[in-house]
Amino acid sequence: MSITVRNITKSFNGTPVLKGVDLAVEKGELVALLGPSGSGKTTLLKIIAGLEWPETGALDVDGEDWFALPARDRRIGFVFQHYALFPHMSVRENIAFGLRVRPKATRPSRADILTRADELLRFLQIPHLADRYPGQLSGGQKQRVALGRALAIEPKVLLLDEPFGALDAAIRRDLRRWLREVHDATGSTTIFVTHDQEEAFELADRVVVMGEGRIEQIGHADLISDRPASPFVARFMGATV
Ligand code: ADP
Repeated sequence: MSITVRNITKSFNGTPVLKGVDLAVEKGELVALLGPSGSGKTTLLKIIAGLEWPETGALDVDGEDWFALPARDRRIGFVFQHYALFPHMSVRENIAFGLRVRPKATRPSRADILTRADELLRFLQIPHLADRYPGQLSGGQKQRVALGRALAIEPKVLLLDEPFGALDAAIRRDLRRWLREVHDATGSTTIFVTHDQEEAFELADRVVVMGEGRIEQIGHADLISDRPASPFVARFMGATV
């Protein structure tokens, strides 16, 4: 699905956090929202997810007015930094959850749900974890399960908020490679938030650099590092290299 964001603004308690954001993401693209803490990345992601409401602006997904669609028709996969798995459910049940809560008319049968969950577990290379509970998993394993749960609903759009932020460097690298493989295999339109330049540059097709509620630059990694579009981007690149 292609996503078009037009002139989105948002304030919290009178303080502007998004000051007119325009962004077009193509179908099947993997895009990183990169910027320092407080630049508005998560707020933009939440607006696309329907978890926050903008003050002005429009959002189209494949030409349809996203805000006018009922939430259940938007089919968003969302992955949080801190997993948010259901602790009392096994890995298989966590992954099946998205299918189980669908409206009755589109809900697969119980047998189909379990078959689909097992297919996903194999696809995500974690079939051996099916019967474990979240408390028995490492951070990296939890994040694979969280992504599995998001993918179970066959999302139109996959959104990830600092998905690997709580993990250590070696595991982050593994998961990056794995996310890229999963993305390429599913062809989902994916937007992920990070403040980590290396992560954005390695993983994303295009990088969106945000600063203080505005998009400062959009482009391929090489372009942003070779030709920063503003003093802000140049400083940000220099500051975190
Ligand atoms: P980032 O993801 O780039 O770190 P955020 O979108 O989380 O930035 O936050 C941007 C600004 O909005 C920050 O100053 C943050 O404190 C503020 N903010 C975010 N969410 C809320 C909220 N629910 N209520 C009040 N202020 C918020």
